[in-house]
Amino acid sequence: MEAVVLVVFVLFVFAWKSARPRVKGGIGERKVAWTLSGLDENEYVVLNDLLLKSKTGSAQIDHLVVSRQGIFVIETKFYDGWIFGHENAEYWTQNMYGKKTRFLNPIRQNQTHVRALKNLLSDIGNIPFIPIVVFAGRGVLKGVNTESPVIYSRQLRDTIMENRNTTSVLSPDQVKSIGERLKQANVPDRSERKTHIHRARNASAIRSQRERSGLCPRCGGQLVARSGRHGRFMGCTNYPKCRYTRNA
Ligand SMILES: [Zn+2]
Repeated sequence: MEAVVLVVFVLFVFAWKSARPRVKGGIGERKVAWTLSGLDENEYVVLNDLLLKSKTGSAQIDHLVVSRQGIFVIETKFYDGWIFGHENAEYWTQNMYGKKTRFLNPIRQNQTHVRALKNLLSDIGNIPFIPIVVFAGRGVLKGVNTESPVIYSRQLRDTIMENRNTTSVLSPDQVKSIGERLKQANVPDRSERKTHIHRARNASAIRSQRERSGLCPRCGGQLVARSGRHGRFMGCTNYPKCRYTRNA
């Protein structure tokens, strides 16, 4: 009997570890979705897990909140350990008891989502977009130095509510119709979603390959040593079209 329990336990741990990024990401997203479900339905339209297609490709957006003050674009991360990151860096770092793992800068991911949304809603005119990165795990934001908000999930509702003090730019009807449009634009089809995930994985493999070859991970251009106000750094030769830099 005990042996059976042990086997089941080991299998469970194994399944948890191997399924980790997807399942755990899912937990973080469910946690945030639950938080957002507490917002007043008359004031906010909340949309979770959208896949939007735009001219520039497809964008998978964890959560959107349409309000009279603008559209909150929320990227959820579920990490333990200490988190370090800068606004413009290519990658951020998770430090788990000295073991460092890097992940894509979520602010840059969110910028891509905002661009896709602007494209999609370009006929409406000037809608403010408010990108927010939310950490929903036990991770502690240590050296996170950014202009746009990077917060814990427990701060999310207050962050959204505080924004009510800013000027309203959309009417309640517009909030509803934008919500409807985004719902319509969502791709629920599972195989299309799989294609999106494959593409994202390929893109990340290409990025790593370029890095190993000493090329710009963003565009594949050559990197050259430059010196600026803060000392020497490596910059992309396709500047100003590509603004990638890293420490020399
Ligand atoms: Zn480049």
